[in-house]
Amino acid sequence: MSRRDRFDVVVVGAGVVGAAAALRLAAEGLRIAIVEAHEPQPWSPAAPDLRVYAFAPDAQALLEQFGAWTAVAAARAHPYRHMRVWDAAGGGELAFDADQMGRSCLGHIVEHGLLVDRLWATLARTPSIERLCPDKLLELEQDDDEVVLTLQSGTRLRAKLVLGADGAASRVRSLLGVHTRDHDYGQQGVVAYVSTQLAHQDTAWQRFLVTGPLAFLPCADGRCSIVWTLPDAEAERVLALGPTEFCAELTRAFDARLGEVTSVSERKAFPLRRRLADPMAVGRVALVGDAAHVVHPLAGQGVNLGLRDVASLGSMIAEARAIGRDFSAVHRLQRWARSRASENAVAAGSFEAINRLFSNESVVPTLLRGHLLGLAGRLPPLTQFFWKRAAGL
Ligand SMILES: Cc1cc2nc3c(=O)[nH]c(=O)nc-3n(C[C@H](O)[C@H](O)[C@H](O)COP(=O)(O)OP(=O)(O)OC[C@H]3O[C@@H](n4cnc5c(N)ncnc54)[C@H](O)[C@@H]3O)c2cc1C
Repeated sequence: MSRRDRFDVVVVGAGVVGAAAALRLAAEGLRIAIVEAHEPQPWSPAAPDLRVYAFAPDAQALLEQFGAWTAVAAARAHPYRHMRVWDAAGGGELAFDADQMGRSCLGHIVEHGLLVDRLWATLARTPSIERLCPDKLLELEQDDDEVVLTLQSGTRLRAKLVLGADGAASRVRSLLGVHTRDHDYGQQGVVAYVSTQLAHQDTAWQRFLVTGPLAFLPCADGRCSIVWTLPDAEAERVLALGPTEFCAELTRAFDARLGEVTSVSERKAFPLRRRLADPMAVGRVALVGDAAHVVHPLAGQGVNLGLRDVASLGSMIAEARAIGRDFSAVHRLQRWARSRASENAVAAGSFEAINRLFSNESVVPTLLRGHLLGLAGRLPPLTQFFWKRAAGL
């Protein structure tokens, strides 16, 4: 194997999390290879992606670190300044306002396809990153000193550190023999863009119904992107409705908070599962993003946790290099993996507990959530605490 096939880090998977990981670690002066099975579709402003994220401030800060955020913001990222969370049955409302938090906005609503597109443009401008696409990881072996990867094309790569950022059905994870704790929620997230009679007021809205949460996220063109969590059969039913019936049902489900829903785009649904990998690292190979954790995407939070894996790995490597230590030392990676696995388990557990508490029609949970929302609404420090947790601050 020649010098050309040796890298400090090989990242498998160039979705949002893998591409961000390659860029973050290249900023530490490391030589990186990134392997991706499929060339992404170029993003076009005329064809908005239905997969939309409520991008948290710490995720934005990460992209700023390696110069990718400006291009995302310039294309189409809509800042939201308020958040309203309320319960269909229990009463009470939680209000978050940027002014109150001393910030210009609480986060941005961003399309998945736009993020991938701009991250790939940044990868292409970074000489220390080699892209291998289309190509696929087939095999992986490691000893005490390095990892050897075999790709579908026959190419073999050597690295001191490998990151599996290859998504929920991760090949890296299965080659490591890492188990996952899985739970099928029996729910789907129905996503679409909708127009409403009233303006969205730069507010991310979330109403909890017994069937699951319903989010309206404010977009740059004045429409809202919805994530409507429903039991499987209900999701299939609303997907099959004609546009007029769909808008009428959605207006009712949203309690006409923005007046009538007047039109709807193409609709899609994705199944909701929890999948947590344990451990998140074996030897010199670590899992990040959906390869390590798939969580309930309450209000479009899906990708933020994966970018937190990347940010903390980046800091750990920067600290090691600053004191002249081996950035890929196995004990350091193990420490990072334990700390991320516990944070991710807490986040997954809280999303699940919220989903369960708010999907329960019995009297006690209904009263409890009314009290909780009422209490939090009356205590600004508590509201700030909740928001800071969600924003990664
Ligand atoms: C259909 C769908 C809709 C979703 N909608 C929402 C939503 O509305 N809101 C929300 O918050 N979250 C949503 N999610 C979840 C969210 O997209 C994920 O949390 C996020 O994409 C995770 O990013 P990732 O980079 O870890 O993984 P991925 O985006 O899955 O990227 C993994 C990458 O690895 C590549 N890859 C896989 N195997 C190999 C291999 N062997 N070799 C090389 N490359 C490989 C894949 O091609 C892919 O590019 C949705 C997920 C899906 C699947």
